[in-house]
Amino acid sequence: MLTIDGSVGEGGGQILRTTLSLSLIAQTPVRITSIRKGRARPGLMRQHLTSVQAAAAVGRAEVTGAAIGSQEIVFRPTAIVPGAHTFRVGSAGSTMLVLQTVLPALLRAPGPSSLTLEGGTHNPMAPPFDFLELAYLPLLRRMGTEVAATLVSPGFYPAGGGVARVEIAPAPALAPLELLERGEIRGRRVVATVSNLPRHVAMRELDAAAAVLGWAPECFRPSVLTGGHGPGNVVTIAVESEHVTEVFTGFGEKGVLAETVATKVAEEARDYLAAGVPVGEHLADQLLLPIALAGRGAIRTVRPSSHTTTHLDLLRNLLGIRASVEQISERAWHIEIGR
Ligand code: ATP
Repeated sequence: MLTIDGSVGEGGGQILRTTLSLSLIAQTPVRITSIRKGRARPGLMRQHLTSVQAAAAVGRAEVTGAAIGSQEIVFRPTAIVPGAHTFRVGSAGSTMLVLQTVLPALLRAPGPSSLTLEGGTHNPMAPPFDFLELAYLPLLRRMGTEVAATLVSPGFYPAGGGVARVEIAPAPALAPLELLERGEIRGRRVVATVSNLPRHVAMRELDAAAAVLGWAPECFRPSVLTGGHGPGNVVTIAVESEHVTEVFTGFGEKGVLAETVATKVAEEARDYLAAGVPVGEHLADQLLLPIALAGRGAIRTVRPSSHTTTHLDLLRNLLGIRASVEQISERAWHIEIGR
């Protein structure tokens, strides 16, 4: 049986998720050892366990070791089961990362799928719903898929409790993606969302972001939510360009000044714009798997993160793809994947 060492590279949750995705697609059993060995609290956390359970449901798989804290699992898929699935992360664990675990396999399923995802939709250190909707899914659709996501209700870290629905049509083959130019910038938007928190938090964040970005006042908007969701605060910056939309997110935290949250994410957007590339740090690591499954593609991006290099190494290992990473200017890198 194939054994994957989960401690290589940055030793995080991506090794688990991508290995599960590819085990489902290839319908090959796999043993994953030293899961998240590179993290302060190794092993399966709630969100990773939900990913394993989601993959097991989609793959009608037999799994051993699927428990909180477990550092080793054996996963034996027997099918790819389309249709209606509900996955509950429970706490504010990221529903979006659970989705990314099963999506590649469901694209290859014999019929359409309808997913209900319950938990966090806007979590630090994970793709928020807006990123998925505005940045990631449009590119997957460009690769020939039909995937639509709806936010039924947001679930902000730390309370979670949100719901998203995702409809997936079968797309047996992915088209290669080449994303080398950003093209002209067509829209800039900063939205500071407060859920059950004072409006002035959002206004302070907009002022801080404006000080970094210097964009016209109409680009900045507060969004004040009340009611069923727990307290939450997210600053979302969207840059819509001719060939891509990028989304940058800052998460409010207890004990961190609103201005600090907004300044940090605004600087990320500013640096992306200064680099002149289409693909930002997070989008880069998330496009690698679809591009590798398509067989070839290329992106221009900011300095690759250790997450990206770890993911590329895993894809080289599991899929036998060739991949190169080349710095092409002070702030721009070219990543090429091909057989
Ligand atoms: P671990 O605790 O092991 O790191 P994890 O599974 O929660 O586990 P990672 O393996 O680090 O997390 O993966 C996080 C994923 O979320 C990466 O694909 C990363 O690009 C993405 N991500 C993190 N922050 C953002 C963000 N602000 N916008 C979009 N995507 C993000």
